[in-house]
Amino acid sequence: MTTPSPRPEILTIHPYVAGVSEIPGVNRTVKLSSNEGAFGVPPSARAAIAAVVSDVFRYPDGGAGALRTALGTRWGLDPARIVCGAGSDDLIYQLCLSYGGPGRDVIMSEHGFSIYDIAGTYAGSRVIKVPERNLTADLDAMLAAVSASTRLVFLANPNNPTGSMLPAEDVARFRAALPPDVLLVLDAAYAEYVTRSDYDAGVKLVDATDNTVMTRTFSKIFGLGGMRVGWCYAPPAVVDVLDRVRSPFNVSVPAQAAAIAALAEPGWVEAGREHNAVQRPRLAAGLEAAGIKVWPSEGNFVLADLETTEAANAADAFLRSRGIIVRKVGGYGLPQCLRVTVGTTEEVDLVIEAFTDFMRQSR
Ligand code: PMP
Repeated sequence: MTTPSPRPEILTIHPYVAGVSEIPGVNRTVKLSSNEGAFGVPPSARAAIAAVVSDVFRYPDGGAGALRTALGTRWGLDPARIVCGAGSDDLIYQLCLSYGGPGRDVIMSEHGFSIYDIAGTYAGSRVIKVPERNLTADLDAMLAAVSASTRLVFLANPNNPTGSMLPAEDVARFRAALPPDVLLVLDAAYAEYVTRSDYDAGVKLVDATDNTVMTRTFSKIFGLGGMRVGWCYAPPAVVDVLDRVRSPFNVSVPAQAAAIAALAEPGWVEAGREHNAVQRPRLAAGLEAAGIKVWPSEGNFVLADLETTEAANAADAFLRSRGIIVRKVGGYGLPQCLRVTVGTTEEVDLVIEAFTDFMRQSR
């Protein structure tokens, strides 16, 4: 028997490694491995999902019209320039398949979000990873990597897993220096957590240019990772392209209902941001007090640097023995680091205590 072969580049892709939810043999786990929101599902989204159960025999609104209107109202954007997806990953794939392809290079930073590499390679693009400086995208080096073949540049801002953030001014200068036929995708999955005032998620740049896209998600602060809803704000020509290629009913009935409800949940984003603004520095300070280097982060997570792969693996095993799941980031070229999501106040306490005990016993 002969098994049909995929395109050769497909077999060079390493499957995306998701944060696991369980530890075999452990009943209660503290899951801090996927940067999910600390507060669970917004109550109004829970009710909205229950309310549409009897409608799910029907297809969803393929254009997600009500959700786009709600997003436009919430963020002051033209709904006609918004496209929704099954998570922002869905939109990243569609952008790569539409603008990438053989002979059409994709550029990302060395420790950028791994889906850019997977989706770019899937599209048949050469994916160029540009070395970073201090775990932050080096925009000059990225510009230097641009060639006549470059068609797409991805920048996560803040970036996962490093947590680094690029100021609005630097991103605008970068855009201006890129050739106009290169699409810049600003991935702002963690935008709502940013507290620095020199930040722009991308709205200003999308408005000011014809070649910039901003992607966003309901998976983080909005507490709907399991519903799979993301969206992008894009120039009309990019919206036109995405509407041609995306799967026609890519956002399900409950997902659309939940997202609309979550947007309207009073004070939800503010509470999540405030919690994170207090607990992220507390988590970082707790790990630093234990003797662990922590990289600056503007997301709902921190990157703990254990300095060696062995120490990171040992810390991960120690945390697991206490039922705490964090994220190994060797796949991002950072095997000496562990990424820790900012959970509830109690979860932050538990993870600080575990890292402290680990460092004490490994001395
Ligand atoms: N971009 C970044 C930077 C992320 O960290 C994630 C989630 N891990 C995503 C995009 C994808 O999120 P989703 O598909 O759930 O919207």
